[in-house]
Amino acid sequence: MDFANLPMAAYIGAAVLFILSLGGLSHQETARRGNLYGMIGMAVAIVATVLLLDGAPMGYILVIACVAIGGFIGARWAMVVEMTQMPELVAALHSFVGLAAVLVGVSFYLGMDADHSSTVHQIEIYVDVALGSITFTGSVIAWAKLKGRMSGTPLLLPARHFVNLGLVFSIVMFAKPMLEANGGGVIWLLVMAVLAGLLGVHLVMAIGGADMPVVVSLLNSYSGWTAAAAGFMLSNDLLIVTGALVGSSGAILSYIMCKAMNRSIWNVAFGGFGTDSGKSGGPAKEYVGEVTAIEADGVADLVRDAKSIVVVPGYGMAVAQAQHTVNELSEFCRDAGKEFRFAIHPVAGRLPGHMNVLLAEAGVSYDIVLEMDEINDDLSDTDVVLVIGANDIVNPGALDDESSPIWGMPVLHVWGSGTVVVCKRSLASGYAGVGNPLFIRDNTRMLFGDAKVTMQALLTALRS
Ligand code: NDP
Repeated sequence: MDFANLPMAAYIGAAVLFILSLGGLSHQETARRGNLYGMIGMAVAIVATVLLLDGAPMGYILVIACVAIGGFIGARWAMVVEMTQMPELVAALHSFVGLAAVLVGVSFYLGMDADHSSTVHQIEIYVDVALGSITFTGSVIAWAKLKGRMSGTPLLLPARHFVNLGLVFSIVMFAKPMLEANGGGVIWLLVMAVLAGLLGVHLVMAIGGADMPVVVSLLNSYSGWTAAAAGFMLSNDLLIVTGALVGSSGAILSYIMCKAMNRSIWNVAFGGFGTDSGKSGGPAKEYVGEVTAIEADGVADLVRDAKSIVVVPGYGMAVAQAQHTVNELSEFCRDAGKEFRFAIHPVAGRLPGHMNVLLAEAGVSYDIVLEMDEINDDLSDTDVVLVIGANDIVNPGALDDESSPIWGMPVLHVWGSGTVVVCKRSLASGYAGVGNPLFIRDNTRMLFGDAKVTMQALLTALRS
């Protein structure tokens, strides 16, 4: 039997599994299955790649050593990372994709047979290194901003769009001397890699903290296109297909996130869009007023009297790991005949879908988890809204303070309900760093404390 075509058949199988994986991941009910398809697809792809090595012993040793070391580090990392640190992890992983593309591209160029290398092949290497370098440095800056190692304030160079244009122009122009050198132009490749790296730094530095969700998904897309470019360079069909899947799904997610945040995708793609979000460009308004605190017993009375309750979860619920207690609360209220629903803002937490993952983990049934657009109009007919560890996503300033960095971002209109109970530890601001006038509204009550502790106290009060 001839097994020569086995790796190619395996590649096609892996590509189909990746497509099934993406399909599965688009619904909560099928997400687990989608992950499984992705894992099997990746295992098939690695085995097929090893088979393609065609018996070179050093190649086998290197692949096995790299898979063992990389797999060990990845598994250890995944075990210790908190759910709230996922965006940093994702940004760091994107940077590895970019760095790998640059290293492979440069080594390919150096090992190229100058007499037999076509112009097209050299352009493939050039594009791979350019995209890889932008992805690498952009992701490192995104990682630093998300981890708090770097300020979230956007860097506003006076002629930033001209700087970007100049860098793009230079990147394109340096291709000429590299191609003319016909194999001896590694210096031009490296100079271009540095310029592309600067472009990556500048694009992400220009984006304000509140707009980071889109940057994360956009870098996801860049890393996909980088992998696709590497696929052309290496003549690896599976890498082209996988890269295109990641690139296009990341681009679609960026578009969805932009729509959810009322931003323009073009401004994000070319950097600095966060800087235009506050119209006047000045500091956001300060809010002065009295807040009304409430204890768990008081909230229990409100919940007892309410017919309809909506929970708005945010980043603080993830920090406190309060989702299981909140699920118990939902079951208690539903058993008591109340209408109980969850309202999910598209950028709640620190990762697209962050709240959906937490609620699914806690066993909340999907039919009571509604997206912002599905529930926003109902909030005015809701008796009690419990805002649990959320802040920016319920900030009315996004609608009426033009100087706010989150101005224009659609938010959940929780203030229209009968009573809003905001559960957080203090009056501190959220990720965007702006004050929240919701806290001083007449129908707002502040339930101060860690979300898990206060939710447990509320449950105890309700059960007693
Ligand atoms: P926010 O960051 O606006 O607010 C979270 C609030 O949780 C804080 O104000 C904090 O207040 C409170 N909190 C923290 N720990 C606890 C705790 N243990 N118990 C109770 N409360 C706690 O979160 P939101 O979810 O409202 O908004 C998400 C923000 O993150 C948006 O600005 C979004 O743009 C940004 N972002 C989103 C990403 C995404 O993909 N979803 C990615 C990157 C950024 P206190 O300290 O007083 O307790």
